[in-house]
Amino acid sequence: PLFRNATFEISIARSDALPPPHGAEVAFAGRSNAGKSSAINTLAGHTRLAYVSKTPGRTQLINFFRLNCGAALVDLPGYGYAQVPEKIRRHWAALLEDYLTRRESLVGLVLMMDARHPLTPLDRAMIGWFVPTGKPIHVMLTKSDKLSRNEANKTLFAVRRDLQELGERVSVQLFSSLAKTGVEECEAVVAGWLGV
Ligand code: GDP
Repeated sequence: PLFRNATFEISIARSDALPPPHGAEVAFAGRSNAGKSSAINTLAGHTRLAYVSKTPGRTQLINFFRLNCGAALVDLPGYGYAQVPEKIRRHWAALLEDYLTRRESLVGLVLMMDARHPLTPLDRAMIGWFVPTGKPIHVMLTKSDKLSRNEANKTLFAVRRDLQELGERVSVQLFSSLAKTGVEECEAVVAGWLGV
């Protein structure tokens, strides 16, 4: 289990404070409230590793967690929270873009989207920044327990079809922290990126 027993390492607020790369990194991103903290906790088998905030958009930090295999899980600030002043929003966008496009130790992006409203304009912007790096993107359609099996599968195929022009480097899965479904699929994809 790739993410089990992940340990918190450091939080940073600015891209010029990034720690020197040490091991491969896998980034986790998503709109605030997409279920990213819950997903990280579920993957790690930990109830409170990533703080599940009650105020969406408050996590403005990049959090580094160290995995047993030596790689890092990098939890990026949630984006798209409307109540954030424009200046701060721009700062986050710059931080995200900087990290995603310039970090050489980054091997791939796991992008969380609420399965009930995937591929918002900001999600597409994240994909647009990342695709030119040539690194893989794995989309997790979260909270899939909130949809019927039929609706969830329809969404899965619609998102796959939408992204298929981006090629083999983009994969899509359903995930639920509540039902604990999709853990192995995510582990397998990220383990493939890391070669572990
Ligand atoms: P973040 O802002 O992306 O880190 O999202 P959180 O992990 O804090 O989750 C946002 C809200 O969605 C919280 O109220 C969670 O309890 C809820 N949530 C997260 N994952 C799931 C899930 O798999 N199923 C359901 N039903 N709710 C979820």
